[in-house]
Amino acid sequence: MDRAVADLAVIPIQPSGATASGDGVGCHTGRETMLAAAQAAGKSTMLKRYAADYPLDPQRGPHDQPQSMCPAFGSLRVGLRMRRTMTILSGSACCVYGLTFTSHFYGARRSVGYVPFNSETLVTGKLFEDIREAVHAQADPAALDAIVIINLCVPTASGVPLQLLPREINGVRIIGIDVPGFGVPTHAEAKDVLAGAMLKYARGEAEAGPVAAPRQGVASKPTVTLLGEMFPADPMIIGALLEPMGLAAGPVVPTREWRELYAGLASPVVAALHPFYTASVREFQTAGRTVVGSAPVGLEGTEAWLQAIGQAANVSQAAIGDAKNRFLPAIRAALAAKPIKGRITLSGYEGSELLVARLLVESGAIVPYVGTACPRTPWSDPDREWLEARGVHVQYRASLEQDLAAMREARPDLAIGTTPLVQAAKEARIPALYFTNLISARPLMGPAGAGSLATVINAAIGNRRRFQRMSTFFGGVGQGDRAGVWEDVPTMHPGFRADTRRQLEKLAKKRKAEEML
Ligand code: SF4
Repeated sequence: MDRAVADLAVIPIQPSGATASGDGVGCHTGRETMLAAAQAAGKSTMLKRYAADYPLDPQRGPHDQPQSMCPAFGSLRVGLRMRRTMTILSGSACCVYGLTFTSHFYGARRSVGYVPFNSETLVTGKLFEDIREAVHAQADPAALDAIVIINLCVPTASGVPLQLLPREINGVRIIGIDVPGFGVPTHAEAKDVLAGAMLKYARGEAEAGPVAAPRQGVASKPTVTLLGEMFPADPMIIGALLEPMGLAAGPVVPTREWRELYAGLASPVVAALHPFYTASVREFQTAGRTVVGSAPVGLEGTEAWLQAIGQAANVSQAAIGDAKNRFLPAIRAALAAKPIKGRITLSGYEGSELLVARLLVESGAIVPYVGTACPRTPWSDPDREWLEARGVHVQYRASLEQDLAAMREARPDLAIGTTPLVQAAKEARIPALYFTNLISARPLMGPAGAGSLATVINAAIGNRRRFQRMSTFFGGVGQGDRAGVWEDVPTMHPGFRADTRRQLEKLAKKRKAEEML
């Protein structure tokens, strides 16, 4: 067992007397204020890199960006899933509480390290010393290959210089990354921040000399590295698809172990199954690898993907044809055996939304809208073009408001989306499914993916009448402020709201005037 797995709690590993009070900045402080602070504190280069890798519309308003959980969760999750890796957070106590809660909710099964701070340790630079001390204290090569230390919003805005940490201590690699909510828009892209940092480190090691072989030995065939977390059966299915072309499935990145990074970098071809891994793609391309977008979903998707992968790996057209002949008939039969009839809107933040939409369309569904919190990149272009050619509106960087508006306009038989969207759909008596729990938790690729969604989707569509019955049954309990069970119908006091609004406007004007002084 990893030493870090000893218990399932947050370990405050820096006993500096620091408490996490006095850090009165955070999500609520506002993106622009935090950005300006971080720039002033020497983080401009990193922020420019993030702005290029994870772009947002420059014309956006304050709320025109995807609603997401704290983005740092993506990096934290990648670190926590790796063997012999410890992950330490540096940030406000409330952020760390939320992040550790979520990571244990999703079954992290190991502890999260934490270096607390207060106003004094933050402004005097003592926090960095505390981090350095904590990293030294934890760097045990018998237990760990790597320690990941993540600067959350406040330490990033304060310029805590993780880049000054030693590159390794006693042979334990030290990976310091800034993952501020004001620089990394979604938790999906935060996975890329850590995966990219690890690939960069591992590439440097591989270039410098011999590195550890994969646990299961060096592959006898050329491999294809799979970029993006997916359902556990999918890599095996992809392995079977590649076999007739004389290829094998390589590691999945983000990896579960440090040495898999070397094997991932050694593959001549990388399949960017999830399209948002911009920093990771940069590392693969720097290592001279060919990156192929999209994924083997549905009949046309699998056909195009086999062709693209085969060509990228210099496989003969005959072998590519062999692979197609072996699998495409089975996919065609699976799609025909389990059709989906209905109108479906789809949105999510996993990065696989366009792939799922393709599968739905090939299964017979009408999909007017697909929204993804991720940005547009070249790696989803084949899917976007395919969907748009079939009349699907593809919305990158979709906000909840856009997803809701699309659902209200399309009046679908089923809405697939995030928690608030599903809630709104059910209120409107539209059957709905959570993307993350119910759609991402199924195979999508090749023959196993074709038809795998039909059962759950058709069952959900069939629930429409139940929603209508429930709505009729509960219709009398009120809506909005009057929802719930009351002895009497609550009395509305619109005057109170008007008063509060006036006070808030006054406060905003006062703040503005103070800023101008
Ligand atoms: S670290 Fe996450 S929770 Fe904390 S202020 Fe930043 S975005 Fe918000």
